[in-house]
Amino acid sequence: MTSLGLYIHIPFCRSRCDYCGFYSIGRKPTDRYIDALTKEMDLKSPDFEDRLCDTVYLGGGTPSSLSEAQLTRLMKTLSQHFRISNTAEITMEMNPCDMSESYLKNAMRAGVNRISIGVQEKHDHLLSAIGRRHTAKEAETAVKRAYRMGFHNLSLDLMYELPGQTVKDFEASLRWAVHLPVNHMSIYSLILEDGTRMAQLAERGRLARPSEEESWAMYQAMCRILPAYGFERYEISSFARKGYRSRHNQKYWELSDYLGLGPAACSRIGHTRTENTPGVRLYEKELLTGHPPQQEVETLSDTDEMEEYCFLHLRMKEGIPLDGFRKRYGEGITHWYGDAVKMLKEKKLLKEEAGHLFLTYHGAALGNFVFEQFLLD
Ligand code: SF4
Repeated sequence: MTSLGLYIHIPFCRSRCDYCGFYSIGRKPTDRYIDALTKEMDLKSPDFEDRLCDTVYLGGGTPSSLSEAQLTRLMKTLSQHFRISNTAEITMEMNPCDMSESYLKNAMRAGVNRISIGVQEKHDHLLSAIGRRHTAKEAETAVKRAYRMGFHNLSLDLMYELPGQTVKDFEASLRWAVHLPVNHMSIYSLILEDGTRMAQLAERGRLARPSEEESWAMYQAMCRILPAYGFERYEISSFARKGYRSRHNQKYWELSDYLGLGPAACSRIGHTRTENTPGVRLYEKELLTGHPPQQEVETLSDTDEMEEYCFLHLRMKEGIPLDGFRKRYGEGITHWYGDAVKMLKEKKLLKEEAGHLFLTYHGAALGNFVFEQFLLD
């Protein structure tokens, strides 16, 4: 039976983080929103009757803004519509402020077996500078509580290149995080997304970001400290202890099929990529009056697909499996990318070993430059 990943978007946040460019709105989810999600499942699930869902991901926004009753109902409705494997990885993103004992107990009962926690930093002045509503102590308590209650597949997010953050601050965050009971970390540098408060501050020259040298030192600290504590860098931004890679995210990087539900949710089935239009109100209105959600549909050409295959695989430690590439596209990689691969190998940004082409240490630091070389136009 072919597998499928399920993504459910919960685009609600109690407050807006100053750096966030994701679509979300500032209120709690309503039962009406769960009604609309249920309708989308009614419409779409018949096409996936023959699929086994081996990963489920509740992302946001802030999925833990769902009430306990809403979460229970959502998980039950999902399992009534889709065939979910007994061994599925079921991840829920949570804000540390929401992780009370009662909330965690309910999430576990509902089937959640992996939690991704937005921790970001260990220094409160930096957390408040980026608009996070929790303290480091609250995050630490939440992580330990979840572990104590039986969630042994925990991931946390950290950020670097934050305004006012020093190399020492970031190193201290890393050293603090590796001693928390987590098996996975996603580490992101701050990207100034258009329209965010941070981007506006930067435009006005009022954002003191680390220098290039400091950013490079932070990057090196991440690559040095995390592996020393058993976290393998298996993807450009992702580190995991053995056996704890994110199975759901791997579906994105390996171009496997996934179905996204909710406004702004993306799906990829075969060569077709779909994105529901954002807008909770419109989404609810369409679905609750019996219409499918408005969406943009893109059918990927073979060329688009191949480009995406290359740069998504290059994000991962194992890189591009050269035999797999040949089988999928009929010719070896040098047929399409001979000059680019030669140049990137000469610059020591790519390496070939045991039938795989992958980023070197420096290649991973210059990922965007490498990926651009795989655009065919
Ligand atoms: S970073 Fe997360 S919690 Fe903050 S506004 Fe964005 S989606 Fe919401």
